Amino acid sequence: MRSFRELYEQMLREGTGSLPVGAFDPHHLDCLLNPDRYPPVWRIGHCDCGHEQHAPCEQACLFDALKRDAQGNIAVQNETCTGCLACVERCAQGKLTASRDIMPVLRRLVQGEQPVYALIAPAFIGQFSQDVTPGRLRAAFKNIGFAGMIEVALFADILTLKEAFEFDHHIHTDNDFMLASCCCPIWIAMIRKLYNQLVGYIPPSVSPMVACGRAIKRLYPDAATVFIGPCFAK
Ligand code: SF4
Ligand code: SF4
Repeated sequence: MRSFRELYEQMLREGTGSLPVGAFDPHHLDCLLNPDRYPPVWRIGHCDCGHEQHAPCEQACLFDALKRDAQGNIAVQNETCTGCLACVERCAQGKLTASRDIMPVLRRLVQGEQPVYALIAPAFIGQFSQDVTPGRLRAAFKNIGFAGMIEVALFADILTLKEAFEFDHHIHTDNDFMLASCCCPIWIAMIRKLYNQLVGYIPPSVSPMVACGRAIKRLYPDAATVFIGPCFAK
């Protein structure tokens, strides 16, 4: 029986044209084909670490997003999981993994029924060699079927400007403060869950990624947007 990783790598190699043959866990295949039906973290095996209570993964979760199912396996709660991946790091048995949505993206590119835009995080500039310029990356995305590539950094600049206005508007004395980090979903979720009394100090801004997606959809209502970046939670 192929492991989850082996199945995933096989599907990446073979593309979207056919379903894999041979022995594999159908749950793994369903996760890869339909990630939107599952939470941000997938359990890819039975929990046999010997911790029936307070397992390392449960201790790592600040968001109460892990419960047990009737068989005693960990079940990730879609409503409360933030995708921080702390539980994945803490499971020494490798029974948890981050979700992957590459297969649906490839499917949309191949089908060609709607324009698909790549929204790339600012970190891309340090990910490759100096030879990989934004223009070359854009050309590469277009070559594999994307309609275009948009740098989310543009919207980070716009939102920084907005937050500067918010700061000017709300901060008048040494005792005033505001919590400005609209780009980080874990930070926002942590304040909501653990420091709820501070929620009022978060300025009302969406993240640069969300702003970028909205701008594209304002221009091209039928477009699909794909965020590509190093932060899984986003
Ligand atoms: S996910 Fe990993 S650490 Fe958590 S209970 Fe299952 S096997 Fe143990
Ligand atoms: S990804 Fe983070 S929030 Fe989600 S279950 Fe794991 S530890 Fe909890």
